[in-house]
Amino acid sequence: MTFIEALKNHDVEQMKEIPKGDLHNHITRGGNKKYIEKWSGKTIPNCPKFNSLDEMNDWNQKHIKPLLQGREGYEKRLEASFVQAQMDGVKVLHMSVSLGEELFYNNSVEVLVKNLKRIHHTYAPDIKFVPEIAGCTCMNPDEMDYRLDPFLDQSYFESFDLYGDEYAVPSYTKLYKKLRSKGLILKAHVGEFGSAELVREAVEALELDHVQHGIAASTSNEVMTYLRDNHIQLNICPSSNVLLNRTKDYKSHPIKKLYDNGIKVTINSDDMLIFDQSVSDEYFNLYHAGVFSPEELNDIRKNSLF
Ligand SMILES: [Zn+2]
Repeated sequence: MTFIEALKNHDVEQMKEIPKGDLHNHITRGGNKKYIEKWSGKTIPNCPKFNSLDEMNDWNQKHIKPLLQGREGYEKRLEASFVQAQMDGVKVLHMSVSLGEELFYNNSVEVLVKNLKRIHHTYAPDIKFVPEIAGCTCMNPDEMDYRLDPFLDQSYFESFDLYGDEYAVPSYTKLYKKLRSKGLILKAHVGEFGSAELVREAVEALELDHVQHGIAASTSNEVMTYLRDNHIQLNICPSSNVLLNRTKDYKSHPIKKLYDNGIKVTINSDDMLIFDQSVSDEYFNLYHAGVFSPEELNDIRKNSLF
């Protein structure tokens, strides 16, 4: 069965068989709630709509963190993320490890990488995994540069992402130059809460390849033209945007406008452990809301497989 048939027939099981990409996924939050519930014996409630990242983080602290403590809990998170991707037919998976997660291994990035490799090969051996490092803007550029070195020394990571205060993102120019020279894919979270102008400023300052979210670009024709002409890809997570109140619902999601303006977009999961929507679910959600035709969604799906 093809992707288009699976979509039209609402065939959830067949949809899982179709190759998909997930290029915006935070590894500690990429797992399936049921998988963690089964393992921990505890129930995780459905998340409400959040008004801010702080609200979401508080909810996460209260309902998920207590179930996944220490190194054992951390490794269960990694396992759950690979299991989920494998189960959902994800074939290309960019997943980020945050700077600081080496603390679970007494600060040894080498041991962290060894475990990532083991878990990847045990639970999702045929997935093309692109290991990504993520830094929070709560760490200043100099400290981040210093903390990144042991990660880069591993010659394992292929991509870098930055998250936190979007308005601080353009100040990491020097660091991104270094990462560019190492051949990493360059990404940053911007245009989720910030403006269209900020998206352009960040892309220019950091020479980004991909923008994580970037949906605010839809408010400026000029910025959309800039992104299209410079082939900047937006890795969009519709459920995350709906549940963080960035858009009212799927139907009004700006992904359609961005796509219609010729911007390369992909559809991704972001934090499945919180939002509880797989990549397959995201395709169904946009299709049933009448946002895209099956052919358009298939075109977007193919964007994520490279
Ligand atoms: Zn994200």
